[in-house]
Amino acid sequence: MHQLTLAEIARGLADKKFSSEELTKTLLARIAQLDPQLNSFITLTEDLALEQAKAADARRANGETGALLGAPIAHKDLFCTLGVRTSCGSKMLDNFKAPYDATVVAKLAEAGAVSLGKTNLDEFAMGSANESSYYGAVKNPWNLEHVPGGSSGGSAAAVAARLLPAATGTDTGGSIRQPAALTNLTGLKPTYGRVSRWGMIAYASSLDQGGPLARTAEDCAILLQGMAGFDSKDSTSIDEPVPDFSANLNTSLKGLRIGVPAEFFSEGLDPRIAELVHNSIKELEKLGAVIKTISLPNMQHAIPAYYVIAPAEASSNLSRFDGVRFGHRCENPKDLTDLYKRSRAEGFGPEVQRRILVGAYALSAGYYDAYYLQAQKIRRLIKNDFVAAFNEVDIILGPTTPNPAWKIGAKNSDPVSAYLEDVYTITANLAGLPGLSMPAGFVDGLPVGVQLLAPYFQEGRLLNVAHQYQLNTDWHTRTPAGF
Ligand code: GLN
Repeated sequence: MHQLTLAEIARGLADKKFSSEELTKTLLARIAQLDPQLNSFITLTEDLALEQAKAADARRANGETGALLGAPIAHKDLFCTLGVRTSCGSKMLDNFKAPYDATVVAKLAEAGAVSLGKTNLDEFAMGSANESSYYGAVKNPWNLEHVPGGSSGGSAAAVAARLLPAATGTDTGGSIRQPAALTNLTGLKPTYGRVSRWGMIAYASSLDQGGPLARTAEDCAILLQGMAGFDSKDSTSIDEPVPDFSANLNTSLKGLRIGVPAEFFSEGLDPRIAELVHNSIKELEKLGAVIKTISLPNMQHAIPAYYVIAPAEASSNLSRFDGVRFGHRCENPKDLTDLYKRSRAEGFGPEVQRRILVGAYALSAGYYDAYYLQAQKIRRLIKNDFVAAFNEVDIILGPTTPNPAWKIGAKNSDPVSAYLEDVYTITANLAGLPGLSMPAGFVDGLPVGVQLLAPYFQEGRLLNVAHQYQLNTDWHTRTPAGF
């Protein structure tokens, strides 16, 4: 039963082959048995899950239908969940039980999804390896000595190991697409504003976007359908109609113009990944797509711009964690300043502290123009590059990551080497565009992803291309040994 996709689960539930309660019990038992190897969950909510499963079964018995009704999922532990610890992977929030549900959590619960628990992540979603969590590193089910990617590494490892069919993630610079690539999943970062950020604890507000991680594009469409939509509680939520994301999965790719940016194949890309990307291009050509080489001339500036903007916003967002209102508070503070200083020094881990320092520096009066403003200008240039490219092509394709999953600890002494792993994903966040990563092969037994980018609000096009690719390839069906 654990091999079933969301689409198959929906059919199985509709045909009364099994109940949501049975499925939930099976998966909870599987998590209890296998997750100690992976560390993909921070909190399990068994009782709540069984309650939701029974409620979903009752709704179905009353004639209700719906692709998510009774479907087990889990939330990255930065989506606030009423009465349940919402830790952000940080000691700072280890004792924080959210007093409300994030919009995404509430919407999925209304659709009847069953939440099994909260998944591990890099502390405050800062990272590409899921090694910076206060709750310990997450292991990649394809090789337990390797990272699963980050920051949505817990969601990715759990879905890849068939502990559950799909989970939520968030993507500020690649944190859905990169772990999807490194664990053989399909992951989608929607257009900025498509999914409400209300109750999604902020890392870098102008870049953060929630989205689905699943094994197939078809399942990403189902989960995204439950997450997307205008929310008046999020001031950057976009009041655009939400299309039926599953409606165009079967559209033919004949004549689809795919742009391949020359800059995506520069130095630093593992040649074995380049080869797999080229194979995926050939596959899409067979399906009728037309390939064109394009240029994104400002891509080289994306990492420096991102690593100014994201820490700057983080330093501001994280100033609320001061030991006063919620979160960790130090013992016996001497005075207010001591309370702030020690609570924050004890509550935040080293990577978060590094980002706060970098961000506060970039925003300080003397450096604002030189760093933050400059980075914002680069951001605009990158956006303009994409707007120009999408005048010529329908989709942009390239690698998701320059390397497959690295060994746990391998990049710890050099944070910049980890930042460089984001080179292909962060441009979509800077521009606000939707992007998807899909499985495209293996290097040394480790999964490799291909990334697709589309114009604003064209998530359906990404899902269509990925689904057609998945109908003609079987990379996404491969299961890690032992799971
Ligand atoms: N790896 C990037 C960072 O560390 C992206 C993280 C994310 O998307 N949340 O900032």
